[in-house]
Amino acid sequence: MAAKYADVIIDISHEKVDRPFQYKIPQELSDAVCAGVRVHVPFGRGNRDQTGYVVELSDQPDYPEEKMKSITSVDDLGITAQSIQIRTAYWMKRQYGATMIAALKTVLPVKQKLKQLERKKVTGCMPAAELLALAERCEGKHQPAKARVLRALAEEELLPYELIRQKLNVSPATLQALQRQGCLRIETESLYRNPVKPVLEKEQRVALSDTQQHIIDDVLQDYRAGCAGTYLLHGVTGSGKTEVYLGVIEQMIAMGKQAIVLIPEIALTYQTLLRFYKRFGDRVSVMNSTLSMGERYDQIRRAEDGEIDVIIGPRSALFTPFPNLGVIVVDEEHEGSYKSESMPKYHARETAVYIASMQHAAVILGSATPSMEAYYRAGKGEYKLYEMLDRHGNSTLPDVYTIDLREELKQGNRSVFSRKLRELMEQRLAAGEQTILFLNRRGYAGFISCRACGHVMKCPHCDVSLSEHRGGMLICHYCGYEERRPAKCPECGSGYLMGFKAGTEQIEEALHREFPDARVLRMDADTTRKKESYEQILSAFADEQADILVGTQMIVKGHDFPNVTLVGVLAADLSLNRNDYRAGERTFQLLTQAAGRAGRGDKKGEVVIQTYQPEHYSIVHAAKQDYGAFYEEEITYRDLMSYPPVSHMLAVLITSSDQDEGRKLCEEMTDIVNKRCVEDRGTNDTVQDTVQVIGPAEAAISRINDLYRHVFYVKHADYQRLVGIKDILELFCKEKELRNLTVQYDFDPMNTY
Ligand code: ADP
Ligand code: ZN
Ligand code: ZN
Repeated sequence: MAAKYADVIIDISHEKVDRPFQYKIPQELSDAVCAGVRVHVPFGRGNRDQTGYVVELSDQPDYPEEKMKSITSVDDLGITAQSIQIRTAYWMKRQYGATMIAALKTVLPVKQKLKQLERKKVTGCMPAAELLALAERCEGKHQPAKARVLRALAEEELLPYELIRQKLNVSPATLQALQRQGCLRIETESLYRNPVKPVLEKEQRVALSDTQQHIIDDVLQDYRAGCAGTYLLHGVTGSGKTEVYLGVIEQMIAMGKQAIVLIPEIALTYQTLLRFYKRFGDRVSVMNSTLSMGERYDQIRRAEDGEIDVIIGPRSALFTPFPNLGVIVVDEEHEGSYKSESMPKYHARETAVYIASMQHAAVILGSATPSMEAYYRAGKGEYKLYEMLDRHGNSTLPDVYTIDLREELKQGNRSVFSRKLRELMEQRLAAGEQTILFLNRRGYAGFISCRACGHVMKCPHCDVSLSEHRGGMLICHYCGYEERRPAKCPECGSGYLMGFKAGTEQIEEALHREFPDARVLRMDADTTRKKESYEQILSAFADEQADILVGTQMIVKGHDFPNVTLVGVLAADLSLNRNDYRAGERTFQLLTQAAGRAGRGDKKGEVVIQTYQPEHYSIVHAAKQDYGAFYEEEITYRDLMSYPPVSHMLAVLITSSDQDEGRKLCEEMTDIVNKRCVEDRGTNDTVQDTVQVIGPAEAAISRINDLYRHVFYVKHADYQRLVGIKDILELFCKEKELRNLTVQYDFDPMNTY
């Protein structure tokens, strides 16, 4: 039976688009009305004729049918790119929680006035640490505007002038003053930049392997049969996944279809782009954060007008309005950057699947270490799984040594380099081969552990480590538990209880001290302030201008270094002890990728993993490069603790200028959920059916920019049940007309708050 009612959004440029209006679907239009079509409707008191877009159909009226108006007619445009964007926005609003305006702004290109032929930008001229120190001094001198700019620049190397003026509300005079002080540079760029430089070289085509050919054929066969699905390509780096993407896209283009290729910004290197340019020439465009809004808008118009067939870019490239989308590729699908950090907090992988389903397009996910989500769905048959587990060429997997740092200390070695690592580094220096030292600096601050026995201070009620706060308190950010920081290790009594603090700079210093002849390059947020310097450092290392490269997770992506035969992971635990349910997964991914950098040429590689927890399953399985074993253990843990992907989790984050108001709202909202769940609980409910509420608690970073943060979590096996709870909370907040308080929803969060 056809649906009887349609939700229509009237005018997408209007500020009040937030809610759709429900209309009756007349019998004679019932075939023509579907989500996304443009319709004419009577609107307002005078029943003026208005155009609108149908965003949803239903069989239930939201209010008495007598009062409901009917759709007048349907525009015969078919499903246009714009109607798909509007449906996507509406879906994101529902699925992730946001206003319709925020969702539309995420999806639709922002039109900018054409006069923007020049562009001003502001670049920081000091290392981040100095900018922060200066910011603190400014705060002391009651110069908050200066402090805001300095803090922003410490986080982001380069900021648009307009953003600083408007968002940070800083005057031109203040910026001038900071420029005179030598803290920053204001620059004007006037030329319009075409993101694609012409490529003259022709591509050397390779003969596809049977596996590659089979995958391409399979995907296209499904597509032609009208049942395109989602495909997960599990293949180590270098196994030939990109060749598969290229092959599918090539045939899509031959059928008059277009392709979106998502690549995390950090992996969007020139080498990667080059392969697409060589294959598809100027029918390819790229979207990245260095493009201005105007340039982005231009790329989108080119896509709409059929001037390009392929767009490559990070998350936001997903919303490119191609008229005949054939495939969306999500490379490195496990990357955290695919999740938006502002509302709506959508995940590009899930959104890609939704967008593709509207257009019967295929989705190809690729990863060497698939996300728990993707592998879980593949296991349930929702995605088709292809494994490509051999590397191309003759490179073999490296030998891995796991070193117990507790033993090192016992043996009197206080250096950041274990004896094994030092020995292997010396061999490399003698042989003229290269070493990468990897410091996983995420999760740097906070947790404390015992240097003697490796014991980590944990919450007695949750399986997370406690975070160290000022004043010597250890706090659990899941349940609010707190205790005083002990002077001695509760496990072994040693006084060596401390936070692990070894930044890349300290490692570099240690290298100069202990290996005075080695040539060292360092790569982290400080040394890569400028966009090009990231590429410059990597190229210099690839050209063998240095023996050792020290860096954060940035260095595990992108370039190939055939002369690197040794990779050292200095402290594998650093990412494990983040108080976060994804810590094990992230650690496994980082270690596997770091290890994958050793021995890419014809020389065999070696990997040293230094850790205080050599028995931890993430480390054990990463050392063996055994994804399957890791997955089994991790999924058991997620299942046991009702964490995603087995269950689902909604984080509700409340920010407020007044601490008490924020805490109060957080408590009230938690109460509502608790009450609803008690009311709704049936007698036959199993554990699976119960809604679990965790919190309220202060967020891990309890104050940012003078805003207090409170948080609670809701867990349930059914995602839609959480959407329902979100809807109730949204309604509650709307009725309260909150002032100075914002509420954010985050489904299946990538990090806990
Ligand atoms: P991935 O995307 O999985 O990292 P790539 O597609 O980039 O893998 O392939 C890695 C390297 O192997 C590339 O240099 C690529 O040209 C080469 N390669 C891939 N497939 C083949 C093949 N069938 N025959 C020869 N070389 C190949
Ligand atoms: Zn101890
Ligand atoms: Zn706890």
